[in-house]
Amino acid sequence: MVDQGFPQGKCLTQTSEGLKPACKATLKKSGDVWNRVIKSAHLSRPEDYFSIYQSGCNHACLKCHSWEFSQVFSGHWMSTDEIAEMCVDYERSVTFEEPRERALMSTATDLCRHCGSCVLTDKRSKFCPGKLEPEQIVLSPQGWGPARNIVAFTGGDIVCCSEFYAEATRKIKERCENIFVLIETNGYGLTPRNIDSLREAGVDSFWLDIKAYEEEVYRRLCGTTNEWILKLPQELVDRDFVIEVLTLYIPGWVESDQIVKIAEIVKDADPEIPFTILAFFPEYKLSDARPPTLREMVEAYSKVKSTGLKTVKLGNTGVFAKTSREIEILYSIVGEEGIG
Ligand code: SF4
Ligand code: SF4
Repeated sequence: MVDQGFPQGKCLTQTSEGLKPACKATLKKSGDVWNRVIKSAHLSRPEDYFSIYQSGCNHACLKCHSWEFSQVFSGHWMSTDEIAEMCVDYERSVTFEEPRERALMSTATDLCRHCGSCVLTDKRSKFCPGKLEPEQIVLSPQGWGPARNIVAFTGGDIVCCSEFYAEATRKIKERCENIFVLIETNGYGLTPRNIDSLREAGVDSFWLDIKAYEEEVYRRLCGTTNEWILKLPQELVDRDFVIEVLTLYIPGWVESDQIVKIAEIVKDADPEIPFTILAFFPEYKLSDARPPTLREMVEAYSKVKSTGLKTVKLGNTGVFAKTSREIEILYSIVGEEGIG
């Protein structure tokens, strides 16, 4: 980042030798090949794609749900060749092929609601979209669902070192037949030069997590500026990436007013971009903060819908709709299409 004229991220990572920047602690080159510390990799739910969980991150978010490996060295070294071979293995188990424009997380719930009912009881559940056959539903460590032809880099994010992601993507694309590459990112590392290099390498899509609109809130929450992150929806659309955006509703930190401003930026880039409002639940250094209420989430949904965005979903619904009455109210207001 510094070489490109941007400030260094909030990226000090705990290692057995003390604190080091994530790109020094969890990324290295052996000969000509990049290696990265990977915590784990498996078919994840509810995403229904192969998630590669990385150690080391350029943010230090107070609410990080993967802090045990994003802030601390944890996992084992894997070369880009080994990562590509893992993707080749995964491709053999794919049960549903998506087109590129659906190489996203939010498209998963259109296909399956992960109940396992069709496999376990031979009957579809009430909310089943009815689009898949039982033979396409497989069990993963996180439950039932299809295996889609997408692999995602997730967990700690050092897209600031785009060379690693570009090399891994090239190898995945060379060795797999029809796999799309998605990067789940906070956007901090997506400088213009890095975006171009990832496009050239063949990255297909981004799940962009915009954590706050107000710069001062963003800095307190994540440790960095969000200055260019707010410009990314347009930058990525202009370069023909498929994208979706998510924002976490954190009472007292990021509420409807900021979420609507983020939604407006996304709508101006393209009203078809899927937008998810995720409910925060207490974790890490925000373990004393409360989750949002049903009322707050539904209000945020209505306000975001009124910006003109076409696809808006609420996520982590179990956090704010716990009783059958609350679930009924939620479905009656936002409908099935509003549940992520
Ligand atoms: S960007 Fe994601 S992985 Fe990194 S610290 Fe923030 S929440 Fe954790
Ligand atoms: S496809 Fe099967 S597992 Fe998926 S929602 Fe329908 S019944 Fe449930």
